[in-house]
Amino acid sequence: MTRTDRAAFTLDVLRQHIPAPQTELCYENPYELLVAVVLSAQCTDARVNLVTPQLFEAFPTVEAMAEVDADAIFAHIRSVSYPNNKARHLAGAARRIVDVYGGEVPRDLEALQTLPGVGRKTAQVVASVAFDIAALPVDTHVFRVTNRIGLVRKADTVVKVERQLKALWPSEVWGEAHHLLILHGRYTCTARKPRCEVCPVAPACLYYERLRALPPPRHDLDPKKGRYYAPASDHYFDEPALKTDRYGTPQIADPRTHSMNVYDTRTGLSTRKVPDFRV
Ligand code: SF4
Repeated sequence: MTRTDRAAFTLDVLRQHIPAPQTELCYENPYELLVAVVLSAQCTDARVNLVTPQLFEAFPTVEAMAEVDADAIFAHIRSVSYPNNKARHLAGAARRIVDVYGGEVPRDLEALQTLPGVGRKTAQVVASVAFDIAALPVDTHVFRVTNRIGLVRKADTVVKVERQLKALWPSEVWGEAHHLLILHGRYTCTARKPRCEVCPVAPACLYYERLRALPPPRHDLDPKKGRYYAPASDHYFDEPALKTDRYGTPQIADPRTHSMNVYDTRTGLSTRKVPDFRV
């Protein structure tokens, strides 16, 4: 399956399984969305949604937020991650929106990124969700999921992932693809334990294909003879060699032959690691 086929398949099945892909942040207007997205960095949407009702009651407009200092904002957001920094950023962003942009959240990606606390990803989320501007923000979920499926290649930065994904799908679906991938990463292709057995993308997923290609467990090994066993040389050993495979993943190897086809004698499982992207 080519990357183009994978991309088409992924979009298709995720659309079927996630019928209403949209942000889980609660907001009423671009100002509230901007605040919620800034607060959501390194924090869950659920946690942000707990604090924003009270925050927006205290500061219902960007002008109201622009009039206070960071301490006043901090008091309402102390339970989110990095509240000091975020309070400072929100106060600065509100002031700049009022002073420079006449109290309107700018639509332009460049202008958005001049606001304190607003990086490339936040700017794209706001532009895409609030103003329907074609954007494909890459967060940790999008980065992990697209690398695992094999939608991107040698993409070790969010900018590379974004560029490759934009080449795979037409701009009309970028926003939708962003939400589908986030929700898929949040509920199915989770960082610690992806739920491949129930995943609709599995038939197109490289990570799953590599998992299934691992050798089956062995039940004929004797842990008393050594911690590891290499069938190619019929060799038990305790001190393995380390080798890096062609995907750049460190693997346990037989110190005699350097074969990476090695088993853990205590579990009977292959020690082969499939390259993963657990961010
Ligand atoms: S098959 Fe597994 S790794 Fe691949 S997308 Fe689904 S959950 Fe993620």
